[in-house]
Amino acid sequence: MQYETVIGIEIHAQLLTDSKMFCGCSTKFGSEPNTQTCPICIGMPGVLPVINKKAIEYVIKTGLAVHCRIASYSRFARKNYFYPDLPKGYQISQYELPICEHGYVEIADNGSTKKIMLTRIHLEEDAGKNIHEGAGNYSFVDLNRAGTPLMEIVTEPDIRSPKEAVAFVKKIRTILRYIGVCDGNMEQGSLRCDANVSVRPYGQEEFGVKAEIKNMNSFKFIEKALDYEIKRQIKAIKDGEKIIQETRLWNSEKGITESMRSKEEAHDYRYFPEPDLVPIEVEMPWIEQIKSQIVELPDSRRQRFISQYGLPEYDADLLTSEKSLAEWFEQAVKLGGDPKTVSNWMMGELMSLLNEKNKQIEECGLKPEQLVGLLELIDKGIISGKIAKTVFEEMYKTGKNPDTIVKEKGLVQISDEADIEKAVNEILEKNPEEVERFKAGDEKLMGFFVGQIMKVTKGKANPQIVNELLKKKLGS
Ligand SMILES: [Zn+2]
Repeated sequence: MQYETVIGIEIHAQLLTDSKMFCGCSTKFGSEPNTQTCPICIGMPGVLPVINKKAIEYVIKTGLAVHCRIASYSRFARKNYFYPDLPKGYQISQYELPICEHGYVEIADNGSTKKIMLTRIHLEEDAGKNIHEGAGNYSFVDLNRAGTPLMEIVTEPDIRSPKEAVAFVKKIRTILRYIGVCDGNMEQGSLRCDANVSVRPYGQEEFGVKAEIKNMNSFKFIEKALDYEIKRQIKAIKDGEKIIQETRLWNSEKGITESMRSKEEAHDYRYFPEPDLVPIEVEMPWIEQIKSQIVELPDSRRQRFISQYGLPEYDADLLTSEKSLAEWFEQAVKLGGDPKTVSNWMMGELMSLLNEKNKQIEECGLKPEQLVGLLELIDKGIISGKIAKTVFEEMYKTGKNPDTIVKEKGLVQISDEADIEKAVNEILEKNPEEVERFKAGDEKLMGFFVGQIMKVTKGKANPQIVNELLKKKLGS
């Protein structure tokens, strides 16, 4: 029997506000434990939370970017549970009245696109962090993260494979980074993802029993964890076992998902409206104002890159995956660079240098005008395409301009026919046997001669002139 996979995703995204959700404490990452806390976020009795307006604005902005309906009236609710990283004994979240509902995101699907529907986006506060380190039989609690604004994006069970799941999370991450509401750093936990996974026989409408997978903190782990979980469920069904509804954790060292708690142990959160906070009423002018601040989003920018610059889909996808990359590209084209040539250099040389050190484009000193300057040197025949790669790397590493590097290193292409002819004669005289074989019909030797000439000219001979001279002298 063939089985179909059904996946729904929940993304938790920490919002890029300066202060926490209900107090003035800083949200800066990486500070000394428990230095960014106050009576409100450590849950002292008798304190009153105050809503961070910027956080509401960011959730509305996200909702607008993913086609959601923005609620004119929503409110916070208490989600009651005990855990050492939650000193209040409850988390302020949203329950029956979230800020955004019914949106969608498009992902690429075999040359066309597929819509992943969003159920809701709501706002809550993050919990602190338990740290299990040291030899003793104890753990530490760091409450710097407690009360940080956290946005939860929930999809319908529309996803059908681990690859689609990864494409969806990547798309959300790109959008959040475009509109500047979340830095998307999965390693530091500012973007986290859980998935509900089940399988069912093809053609069956009813959903199978689902497991919730947590703790997937990279794209690679999302794909691996879901792959593993789907195989596990199908095998269990085939072996006649019953799938139980449970929460499972991805163990990246063992490469498996492990049961954390079953439904019987699941929490009853006893949600009720948060009595310390007023409901949120959002008026149209505010929504309009937020809408006007939204930049061109990746999907439309991608389309525009294809139609306006004639780029292949692959290039457009890659160049619009980060706003900073897209802007760098457009700047270079504006300065006169040929779109496809600029794209090739960015996707090839530039990306490989950036990936080497795991850097973003804005973190490297290279300017679009420097690449355009390099392309001009190639166009004018001053340097060869091969030498240009050396110049590019030097430019990237030192920040010097291309013409300075070419002058300093003496890389100017030799286009003087007399000079090249000297090198050609030298090589032909040194290799009489190869010349005979060539004349007898072994035309593959052309590559050998060109290679030898490039070697003695240190790659600087104009390849076109080399080829012409060789043909003339060898009579081919
Ligand atoms: Zn605080």
